[in-house]
Amino acid sequence: MGPSRALLSAGHTSPTLSVALVSSVALLMLAGCARASDPELFRADPALQNDFTASLPTHGSTGGIKYEIIQGLAVFEGDILLGAVDESGTIPGKMRSRGLARSDAFGRWPDGIVPYLDPVDNSPTQQKNIREALEHWMERTRITFVERTPDNEEQYPHYLRFESSYSCASYVGMQGFEQAIMVSDACSAGSIIHEIGHALGLFHEHTRSDRDNYVQIDWEQIVDDKDINFDVQNANTQNLGPYDYGSIMHYGEYFFSKSGLPTIIVADGVEIGQRIELSETDAQSVDQMYATDLALLPPDTTTGATGLELGVTVLNQGNLGAHALELVVKLPGATQWQGISRDSGWQCASYGEELRCTRPTLAEQTESRFTLAVDPGTASSEDVMMLLSSRTLDGNTSNNHYNDDGSLTAAAGNGGARSNASEPAAAAANDSDAQAVAIMPAMASAQSGSGASDDAAGGGAGNGSLALLVLSLIGWRRRQALARH
Ligand SMILES: [Zn+2]
Repeated sequence: MGPSRALLSAGHTSPTLSVALVSSVALLMLAGCARASDPELFRADPALQNDFTASLPTHGSTGGIKYEIIQGLAVFEGDILLGAVDESGTIPGKMRSRGLARSDAFGRWPDGIVPYLDPVDNSPTQQKNIREALEHWMERTRITFVERTPDNEEQYPHYLRFESSYSCASYVGMQGFEQAIMVSDACSAGSIIHEIGHALGLFHEHTRSDRDNYVQIDWEQIVDDKDINFDVQNANTQNLGPYDYGSIMHYGEYFFSKSGLPTIIVADGVEIGQRIELSETDAQSVDQMYATDLALLPPDTTTGATGLELGVTVLNQGNLGAHALELVVKLPGATQWQGISRDSGWQCASYGEELRCTRPTLAEQTESRFTLAVDPGTASSEDVMMLLSSRTLDGNTSNNHYNDDGSLTAAAGNGGARSNASEPAAAAANDSDAQAVAIMPAMASAQSGSGASDDAAGGGAGNGSLALLVLSLIGWRRRQALARH
């Protein structure tokens, strides 16, 4: 049996995942503790037991989803938060649309980047487990977690806050603005990996529509009133990949048992409920959920008396933003890369004939156009090679090459080795060879010919005010000016 998980509806057809059951190096984060004996739970805070919420009903439902009401919050399957309820126990309008009934890309974290507040106010145990969980997600997937600070808070309006509480609990998918993940000292790093999985958009594996083909629910053993935690969820969810017993999103055998007998029965030898690491399919499913389609257009080349100008167009044709983009351009025989059009959003460094440009993000359905100037030396414009990559999974890489004979390589983390995935794309470029590295200066757009950048989404990187290359820039401008007269 291959592995999977129930996902938030992506609104687009999910490609079949190839499940490579390569045994990943076991991260012994919780030595010896392979299975969770207790479910992650949202629990009432005893200090608040007698507040106004005590008068609320204990259960409610919306859109076919039944939930418990605990201290004013609608709670689903033990640890999934749906939002605050009103006096009648229903989730008011806005909240209802934020719980489970989402479609398309809503509920995804923009560009696959998840900002979080440094958990400095959590206990040392919680801090350690939170950091382990975040590192694990960074190592195993293409999602990037970024600490939200006063310096970048305008850039990141939506973010996670790890709230110290009596619970391990989370909302499903991005809710907008500050979003809590509840953690207690009893939440292991594995349980926090699980809760982060919810925040990224994953539901529990055992609620997949096809689960009855793989597990048997023994309804007689379930604690009274907890049977709703075992309902199959059909609405607005999507099954990605085969059923995955090994998913970190799967309940354990004894979750919500009132008798000590299993509530979920599996075949002999099958283990469920591990809380050590993401399964291979967990990681693939999340990467797939945040995938997009980057593409390169053939460059426009203009040859003048002074050299060559390459008009480059990079597209994000997908429905989700990408991050940590890298464009490698090579012109065999070129003597010098000279500049990039101003405000391109790209930052470039040259390594002899090769130029490596990086860009933090490129939003969905956006194009980035810019011009590169190069002294071609003995090269011809027809020899230009290009390779585009990103940390975000690219659903179609056949349109990411131009004229590439296979000699171009992407940075680590961009389709390469997972082990270095958390390093910025530029880091790999820095040690790629012993040749002198030159940071490309930005050119005034008026002098960059047809390539004035139309890019608004670039974050303003690449203004390249580095003094060390001013000389070559001046030389290039002088020759431009001479050519014009
Ligand atoms: Zn859960």
